[in-house]
Amino acid sequence: LDLREEDLIIGKPMGEGAGGTVVKATHRPTQTPMALKFIRADFNIRQQILKELQILHECNSPYIVSFYGAYPKDNGVQVCLEYMDLRSFDFIYRKNGPIPVPVIGQVTFSVLQGLKYLYEDLRVMHRDIKPSNILFNSLGFIKLCDFGISKEMVNSIANTFVGTASYMSPERMNGGSYTVKSDIWSFGLTLMELALGRYPLRAEGDSMSIFEMLSYINTETLPTLSQDEFPLGLCDLVAKCLIKDPNARPTLKDLLNHPYTRECAVAKFNIEQWAKSIKLTDF
Ligand code: ADP
Ligand code: MG
Repeated sequence: LDLREEDLIIGKPMGEGAGGTVVKATHRPTQTPMALKFIRADFNIRQQILKELQILHECNSPYIVSFYGAYPKDNGVQVCLEYMDLRSFDFIYRKNGPIPVPVIGQVTFSVLQGLKYLYEDLRVMHRDIKPSNILFNSLGFIKLCDFGISKEMVNSIANTFVGTASYMSPERMNGGSYTVKSDIWSFGLTLMELALGRYPLRAEGDSMSIFEMLSYINTETLPTLSQDEFPLGLCDLVAKCLIKDPNARPTLKDLLNHPYTRECAVAKFNIEQWAKSIKLTDF
């Protein structure tokens, strides 16, 4: 796809995150819907970011949102991504309530496959797994977006970051080095959030600083999913992801081999049917 800014028809804004804003657009020559993500970045690092994003042209996985291209714009970089018409799982559960168990199974399988692709083929960590970075479309595909492909982009977003530490692993909040095990923690918290239909660690709307969050995690017993309400395998997988010691936490390979994941991989569930039933937030 030969992407030129003048070929894009800009549509409605879809949301604002820590890193920038997302708007819907249409590529006129091909009538391709797109999501345009604007990332603020200083002039001197824009070229570096664009260079680092180039490897996304080779990114090809049904579990990762496609990249169409990027160009410098105003005081940052515009990134053009595959448009996912049913948006992200945070929007979906806020409008529709807790995500049904068979769908959580599909999310589990798809996100783990996405992570496998990132780790083994692109050789990057995700760094920002949370419900708003797991997207869904009406064909039934579940895909990851916003992974830390570009070092400069990660830094640039970190510099403007004023949000909470909601999905950060304890070792990452501690400021030390962190690894792919940190993604596993965020994944466990995310699954629990989708199952409960709310952020699991504290009352909704109440935001915690990194310091408050760390002392909470160090002192309180973390919540678990109830075995009366959820499959045993899911409860076990989530509990293992939320092991505080990163060395004792499972690896991606462990999770891919977990009985629950194996079950989900072969489960017969018509996710397209479910996709048709969900209510959307207008935008
Ligand atoms: P955050 O992920 O922190 O919510 P973002 O700026 O990454 O903030 O995204 C804002 C919103 O835009 C997300 O919540 C998501 O619902 C939506 N969004 C992001 N990328 C896409 C996409 N490719 N297709 C459809 N919706 C998207
Ligand atoms: Mg995002």
